[in-house]
Amino acid sequence: MDHHKTARILVAGSGPAGLIAALGFAEAGFAVTLAGPEANGQDGRTTALMNPALKVLERLGVLAELKPKAAPLKVMRIVDATRRLVRSPTVTFRATEIGEEQFGLNLPNNVLVPALARAVAAHVGIEWRKSMVESWRLDTTHAHAVLADGSEISASLAVAADGRLSPAREAAGIAASVRSYPQAALVLNFSHRSDHAFTSTEFHTETGPFTQVPLPGNRSSLVWVVKPETATELAALDNATLSQRVEEQMQSMLGRVTVDPGRQVYPLSAASPGRFAQNRVALVGEAAHVFPPIGAQGLNLGIRDIDDLIGIASENSSDPGSEKCLATYDTRRRPDILARSSAVNLLNRSLLSDMLPAQLARSAGLGVLGSFAPLRAFFMREGLRPGSGFQALAGGLRKQSRR
Ligand SMILES: Cc1cc2nc3c(=O)[nH]c(=O)nc-3n(C[C@H](O)[C@H](O)[C@H](O)COP(=O)(O)OP(=O)(O)OC[C@H]3O[C@@H](n4cnc5c(N)ncnc54)[C@H](O)[C@@H]3O)c2cc1C
Repeated sequence: MDHHKTARILVAGSGPAGLIAALGFAEAGFAVTLAGPEANGQDGRTTALMNPALKVLERLGVLAELKPKAAPLKVMRIVDATRRLVRSPTVTFRATEIGEEQFGLNLPNNVLVPALARAVAAHVGIEWRKSMVESWRLDTTHAHAVLADGSEISASLAVAADGRLSPAREAAGIAASVRSYPQAALVLNFSHRSDHAFTSTEFHTETGPFTQVPLPGNRSSLVWVVKPETATELAALDNATLSQRVEEQMQSMLGRVTVDPGRQVYPLSAASPGRFAQNRVALVGEAAHVFPPIGAQGLNLGIRDIDDLIGIASENSSDPGSEKCLATYDTRRRPDILARSSAVNLLNRSLLSDMLPAQLARSAGLGVLGSFAPLRAFFMREGLRPGSGFQALAGGLRKQSRR
């Protein structure tokens, strides 16, 4: 067996970002080696992917088989469920307002990840080594990885899709500022008596958001952000008691609730690397950005990282890991990643803050969002097509000022 094969693109990490990157690069004509173990199927979370991210999955040929197991997101609501003096009005966004049938789809991770893994395994352009990268050596022309199985891979470009702790990021000498929040997300799925009408409702509470997202049938997924000790307490409740707590928290909006067996607790943190590429390594997915799960941003942003990286690499296919390519990638991704990360972190911090000015700003913020038509359209378009919201907002403001 040849243990010293040279591959042009090495993708490290086989989570959703790594699998999508491997498929995308292979479809773009690159020789790809993917390094990372197969998922264990224990991830009970769901991922809401917006229409632009779904277009990428469609191009990669995996969307059709996902659709029957996913629920469309047609309406998104934000409800201020804090007990504060100044509360924001409920804000409702409808996909039809921007001429779309749906904002996106909510997909169970244990449907999405195996479908991507099957597509990767079947692709002739991808060699998947189901082994961890143990060490990195980066020189001026190549990235070299030694795997746990003893084999070595050399590539022009290493795509770091190896998650929030990203050993590849560290090897590239990129420091990340990391912050942990006094919060954890309790994640579970549940069935309910009433129809969700493809509506997702995010209740904002003092400890963080409680987000219900539709699944097919009378079922939904839940991400409930609370203090870490509360998450542990809730996760230890019996099914009947927990079902009742979930129903109460939703003000019985969906009628009687029955939680599925199985719960997961995720501690919340944020991480921002100083650069998004350096020394033959480009960061994508959680290696490039970690923030709390508010407003379904994480993997949507990760898919945009991958799309941009493939675009830049395709224009420089002889040496996609060159300094010039990596500098272009860093510049191109910076505004999008910083805008998303700071918006989500700000929203999270304003929810946690007991200071009145933050409350007022948040109340005004959601109120303005709900009532000012160009801003509403901006918020929704930005969720769907990054960049297009700015044009629409500018257009709307010009119209207003002409009146
Ligand atoms: C509760 C919750 C809800 C969320 N909901 C949404 C949502 O609705 N919409 C949305 O867009 N996003 C959502 N997100 C964010 C989304 O889950 C993440 O963006 C996504 O999972 C990140 O994928 P990733 O592939 O970058 O990282 P991971 O999934 O962490 O994958 C990293 C992979 O790298 C591998 N790895 C690590 N080290 C090595 C090594 N040395 N060698 C090889 N492999 C290695 C790991 O084994 C792992 O498989 C949510 C997150 C949470 C916590």
